[in-house]
Amino acid sequence: MLAVGLILGSLPGWEMCFAAWAALAGLVLLATAFGLCCCAMFEASHRRGRRAMPCLWATAGVRGTSWVPTIVGKPMTAVDPPVQERRRGWPDTWAAAWVAERAGADATSLRCTPMDLGDPFDFIVIGAGTAGCLLANRLSANPRHRVLLIEAGGRDDYAWIHIPVGYLYCIGNPRTDWLYKTEPDPGLNGRVMRYPRGKVLGGCSSINGMIYMRGQARDYDGWAQRTGDPAWAWAECLPYFMRHEDHWRGDEGGEHPVHAGPGHDATGRRSGGEWRVEKQRLSWPILDAFAKAAQETGIPPTSDFNRGDNEGVGYFEVNQRRGVRWNAAKAFLRPALKRANLQVLTGAHVTRLLLEDAPEGARDKLVACGVELRIGSDAPVQVRCRGEVLLSAGAVGSPQILQLSGIGDGSRLQAVGVAPRHELPGVGGNLQDHLQVRAVFAVDNTRTLNTLSATLFGKARIAAEYAFSRSGPMSMAPSQLGAFTRSDPGRRWANLEYHVQPLSLDAFGEPLHAFEAFTASVCNLNPESRGEVHITSADPAQAPRIAPRYLATEGDRRVAAESLRLTRRIVAQPALAAFHPREVKPGLEFQTDDELARLAGDIGTTIFHPVGTCRMGRDDEPDAVLDSRLRVRGVAGLRVVDASVMPAITSGNTNSPTLMIAERAAEWILEKVTT
Ligand SMILES: Cc1cc2nc3c(=O)[nH]c(=O)nc-3n(C[C@H](O)[C@H](O)[C@H](O)COP(=O)(O)OP(=O)(O)OC[C@H]3O[C@@H](n4cnc5c(N)ncnc54)[C@H](O)[C@@H]3O)c2cc1C
Repeated sequence: MLAVGLILGSLPGWEMCFAAWAALAGLVLLATAFGLCCCAMFEASHRRGRRAMPCLWATAGVRGTSWVPTIVGKPMTAVDPPVQERRRGWPDTWAAAWVAERAGADATSLRCTPMDLGDPFDFIVIGAGTAGCLLANRLSANPRHRVLLIEAGGRDDYAWIHIPVGYLYCIGNPRTDWLYKTEPDPGLNGRVMRYPRGKVLGGCSSINGMIYMRGQARDYDGWAQRTGDPAWAWAECLPYFMRHEDHWRGDEGGEHPVHAGPGHDATGRRSGGEWRVEKQRLSWPILDAFAKAAQETGIPPTSDFNRGDNEGVGYFEVNQRRGVRWNAAKAFLRPALKRANLQVLTGAHVTRLLLEDAPEGARDKLVACGVELRIGSDAPVQVRCRGEVLLSAGAVGSPQILQLSGIGDGSRLQAVGVAPRHELPGVGGNLQDHLQVRAVFAVDNTRTLNTLSATLFGKARIAAEYAFSRSGPMSMAPSQLGAFTRSDPGRRWANLEYHVQPLSLDAFGEPLHAFEAFTASVCNLNPESRGEVHITSADPAQAPRIAPRYLATEGDRRVAAESLRLTRRIVAQPALAAFHPREVKPGLEFQTDDELARLAGDIGTTIFHPVGTCRMGRDDEPDAVLDSRLRVRGVAGLRVVDASVMPAITSGNTNSPTLMIAERAAEWILEKVTT
């Protein structure tokens, strides 16, 4: 810079001016070239991710060849089968390492070492997803506890996991997604829907929308009432949200703080720290206008959805660190990997639980004493547990594993060739999910992502912005603006959530529209409809049958119609008038309640929040799978700890509530060991 300054300073008049312009043009060209390189690299990485799939699957033995297990963390004693590092090309490796390293997480430092699963563990955690990663951290904090964490997916070293906009490439990608599909759903007018679930370290937190949302205080008070256990009341749960929270607001002080930053110590322990919550690094004029329009309909503005009452409109807060995804693996697992007592096995599919009859006179009928897992097409391996087995395989995986182990509705199990061991008819029932109904509006007089990313130059600019400052569209969570409100004013609480985006497309995975537009999706937070997850075969490799049964009740159909009307009312407000919004989808020809409800079935899609399939409840409820401390009823040494335990879905996104559940469970599990 000094040399350039000196040269320019020594030039007189127009020559200096010319040289300055030339230097500026050179800089712009350099920045553009850098942006284009980034673009090409990320695209190559994505294409490679897709191309690599068949060979990855073959390696995984799903197509019958040899499987390569990896153990992440401390070296273990040698064995069978030999470990072999998966080969990765430069874009993949380089991009992952670059992004992860810049985010403060070192993806490449994960070691792959041989294993020995011979000795029994104190705790076995099944599934390294949102809940499993937190559990593994807490349970291995005491070096005396030998902990094994088992994950069917691979390591979280795919670049698109870390770049926020990369969820587009992680969903529907066998490298990171189980690729489930639902049954044809009568509520969706017979449509089959993709049902993404994370299959990778971090589970769904590695592919999700990163929105930080606790739900409403009444959700947890409802759980307390439903289970008869005051431990689930909001006031009791709040400290467990805060225990792992590292909120950009920091510790607010005061008598009743609701957020924790580093150093927060409300509970007498060190808290705050692992679960980073940040403001988004963007704003869009069209979203600001939508927020104003929402206010004009009476929805109050809010800058914090997480104080127990989330009613209001504002930008979502996200689980990111400096513009990079912050998943449960980075937050909870990586810091624990250096512990010699924690072993993490990836690429290992748990096929069933090992169960023994309980001793005569014991309260429970069975005792969980380990797990059976399969590594590719190799013979099943059995791993023993002398403490507790923790099932954290998620709302689809956990009921599947229980059913494969003979725990569930006996007659259903028998019908698919599984010998029933313990009758718990509620396993796999009570499936609840949020169905989003998307409306698309074309607009004028503003730029949206549709056209900003349409050209190569636009893409390069976006890539360069992310590369230089980790901000802009590539740092975008799938939805940026949110609103919680009531479908009709007579309701006591907000029962709708809006996710608003400065972009539009026909369906997920399709290209963006060629015109300027925004999307306002709305979902019913407290659906009455209940679905189910049930195995259809004794073969653990076969996906279970997922039947969400959306819009199965009159109440849910009415709320869907009301919510579409409310969307139209917001969009008709003066704040948006300058943008001339025109409804592209669903279309103004649909007006009556019946038309709108039917339409919701045509255009509704999951917003990826399945919960409740192993719900907790009172002992006198035959459908309750767990007691209120998450112990499987009738089976000693076995708990379920994940989103499937929720008796009723929370009024918001479900990731952070799942972390809170795991935080609570870890304390109960460790209490049992020390008492
Ligand atoms: C696309 C998407 C977007 C979302 N967006 C948001 C959002 O923005 N904000 C939010 O709060 N929530 C969001 N969610 C929901 C949230 O991420 C989940 O509710 C939460 O992660 C569930 O955590 P879990 O621990 O129950 O399950 P998971 O995180 O799914 O973990 C289960 C783990 O178990 C593993 N597993 C399953 N079966 C087996 C087996 N047999 N053997 C070994 N391992 C197994 C899986 O591979 C997985 O890693 C989203 C989810 C998705 C899929």
